[in-house]
Amino acid sequence: MTEALTNTDLQGALPLVARGKVRDLYEVDDKTLLFVATDRISAYDVIMENGIPNKGVLLTLCTKTWFKILSDAVPGLRTHFITLDLPPTIPASLQPVLQNRAMQVHKLRILPIEAIVRGYITGSAWKEYQNSGTVHGIPVPAGLKESEAFPNGPIYTPSTKAEQGEHDENIHPDQATAILGEPYASKVAELAVQLYKAAHAYALERGVIIADTKFEFGVDEETNEVVLADEVLTPDSSRFWPKDSYAIGKGQSSFDKQYLRDWLVSQGLKGKEGVQMTPEVAQQTASKYKEAWEMITGGK
Ligand code: ATP
Ligand code: MG
Repeated sequence: MTEALTNTDLQGALPLVARGKVRDLYEVDDKTLLFVATDRISAYDVIMENGIPNKGVLLTLCTKTWFKILSDAVPGLRTHFITLDLPPTIPASLQPVLQNRAMQVHKLRILPIEAIVRGYITGSAWKEYQNSGTVHGIPVPAGLKESEAFPNGPIYTPSTKAEQGEHDENIHPDQATAILGEPYASKVAELAVQLYKAAHAYALERGVIIADTKFEFGVDEETNEVVLADEVLTPDSSRFWPKDSYAIGKGQSSFDKQYLRDWLVSQGLKGKEGVQMTPEVAQQTASKYKEAWEMITGGK
């Protein structure tokens, strides 16, 4: 197995702007970023000590593929994607490491909420529903079972975008409106649901249920347009369930981080810093990610 890339070092070729939990962002010029997906993996907002070899490549190619699918499905959609080609300032010695892991993107003013859309009731939404009959404070029909599809269609359930080290918090769409203001709030809500529906339909035909996902949007400061940013529809940002084994009334086995989350909980390691995944957990997680990708792209 190749080694995981947990940190990038561009040896001064481009200035580092930020390190997120998974990505390292470099500045190409004042309008363009190099958005590099490392092999880091986080769960419950904590980064694991070791990475998943080649996860960054998979996330980058997955995002690029979805940008194309979504742009075809949603007329007028703007995404931050420019190219997978590396800027000419990157020395040849770094190209093998960065190839297919980095994309040049339009630099945006990122809107400070996570635009989550849920088609099925699971995770934190299921927990809240059992306590209060609501999801992000939104009343939903009584009598739903775990993993059931929302009877009136997918719902927009935003969360705050926490600072490093803090936890995102589920909020009601009205709170997102208070944070973003109009017209951005309405545009984000509308686009998020439209994109989820398009992706859900596409994946379902290929045997995958997208239970929920999270989008991020930014504003192009020159035109004030709302632009789809960040990663999209990856196993990091989405819950993918195999359609074949889907059954309501229980949790689902999934092609995503759930394996890692379940392991952390079972070991009492949820939310703990400095966790080293065992080779088995890393291996299982890697193969879940790969499976999700293969089902969506038809095995390429
Ligand atoms: P954070 O950076 O808050 O820790 P994260 O852990 O999810 O969040 P990553 O996914 O590792 O972060 O890094 C991606 C970062 O880049 C996010 O903060 C995201 O908001 C930001 N981002 C994504 N697309 C763009 C863009 N086009 N312009 C500017 N920033 C962007
Ligand atoms: Mg992110």
